[in-house]
Amino acid sequence: VPYGGGTGLVGGQVSVEDPAPLILSLERMTRILDVSPDDNVLVAEAGAILGDIQSAAAEAGRLFPLTLASEGSCRIGGNLSTNAGGTNVLRYGNARDLCLGVEAVLPDGTIWNGLKRLRKDNTGYDLRDLLIGAEGTLGVITKAALKLFPAPERFATALVGLRDPAAAIALLNAAQARFGEQVSAFELIHRHGFDFIAETMPDTRLPWGDPPEWMALIDLGFGAQALKGDDGGDGLEDFLAEAFEAGHITDALIAQNAAQRQDFWTVRETIPLANRKIGAVYSHDIAVPVSRIPEMIAQGRARVAAIGPLRVNCFGHVGDGNLHFNIYPPKGAVKADWVHLKDEIKTAIYDLVYELGGSMSAEHGIGRFKLDDLVRYEDPAKLGAMRAIKAALDPLGIMNPGATVPEVLGSGRD
Ligand SMILES: Cc1cc2nc3c(=O)[nH]c(=O)nc-3n(C[C@H](O)[C@H](O)[C@H](O)COP(=O)(O)OP(=O)(O)OC[C@H]3O[C@@H](n4cnc5c(N)ncnc54)[C@H](O)[C@@H]3O)c2cc1C
Repeated sequence: VPYGGGTGLVGGQVSVEDPAPLILSLERMTRILDVSPDDNVLVAEAGAILGDIQSAAAEAGRLFPLTLASEGSCRIGGNLSTNAGGTNVLRYGNARDLCLGVEAVLPDGTIWNGLKRLRKDNTGYDLRDLLIGAEGTLGVITKAALKLFPAPERFATALVGLRDPAAAIALLNAAQARFGEQVSAFELIHRHGFDFIAETMPDTRLPWGDPPEWMALIDLGFGAQALKGDDGGDGLEDFLAEAFEAGHITDALIAQNAAQRQDFWTVRETIPLANRKIGAVYSHDIAVPVSRIPEMIAQGRARVAAIGPLRVNCFGHVGDGNLHFNIYPPKGAVKADWVHLKDEIKTAIYDLVYELGGSMSAEHGIGRFKLDDLVRYEDPAKLGAMRAIKAALDPLGIMNPGATVPEVLGSGRD
């Protein structure tokens, strides 16, 4: 069982079953081997901590854009093995999109040197893409060549109050039409996120005392030559004034400096921690087509309300259609008294997700916790192919047994 930073959320890095597993930790393979600004490439060992890779890229005047709240502990081998997402996928893509090549040890002990720095390489099956997202079931990633980007010179960041979730989609589309790829992040936040932080970490500085029900955190990153807007700044103020006129937003806070921008992001990144302290009855990491997000939220909340008086803290990477749709006990109650409803809630939400053409694992993977859901919701043809690939590359079944690939296939959804 390969082990990176241990921050995976679906139990891929831990095994509770007999026989006792052999855990292979990458924690001492932390070297950054090369940073090449000309190639826009950074090469690192698989145990390098994501935050250290970001810093090494920044020292060379470049950006490695993968950004997760766990970046101080997770490691690049784990990021690639889970195909991690995070807050910058909208602009730069997920871990798969950021990787040019890997070196890996395959289950039979062969070392595959696929550490190329090429952006074009159509030489048959793509083993790199097979290993990315395989959660350690097809081999151990030992090194990676990663894509770097020019670092934005300036940011414009706003936290806005939204009329409703549909307004988030309208605002995102308008922002992309106006600012193009400079829209680096667009995060949806429900006020429960703020309430949970106030309840569990009262010392945290919150930008709004009485926040709107729905908010969006918009981050624009500009190159040195970006045009100034008519407002004499980055054009964000004008843009938000128009959004206000159009009725999409009800309120807006624009970060006046880097410290305020950081404050907004700290609040966003603290939400998962506050969620943990409150204790979710069940957390869903789902994706639906962006246009169906308002339906997902409205119907999802209605289906949960039909089960019980639970709180839904829905937040996430709305530009990617990825929502964290997490369910909490009523205020003052404890998780233990509501956890018996977990399966009913999960089925109600995942059924809806698949009715809307979505996925029950947007960025966290399958691991051990979502195996049954994979069998229930994913296409049997895909499950058959996964099993065949696993049997071909790991015939003895030694790599991360019991994770990601269902041992015994069900008949799929029906
Ligand atoms: C507070 C918090 C916030 C988070 N936010 C996000 C987020 O926004 N987006 C997101 O996508 N995830 C998020 N995560 C989940 C997690 O951080 C990611 O899945 C991360 O990529 C896991 O990296 P890791 O090094 O901790 O891997 P681990 O947890 O150690 O392992 C994860 C999986 O990868 C396998 N693995 C690890 N290293 C290797 C290797 N070298 N070769 C082969 N297989 C390997 C393991 O066997 C396991 O199956 C968050 C987690 C926390 C705790």
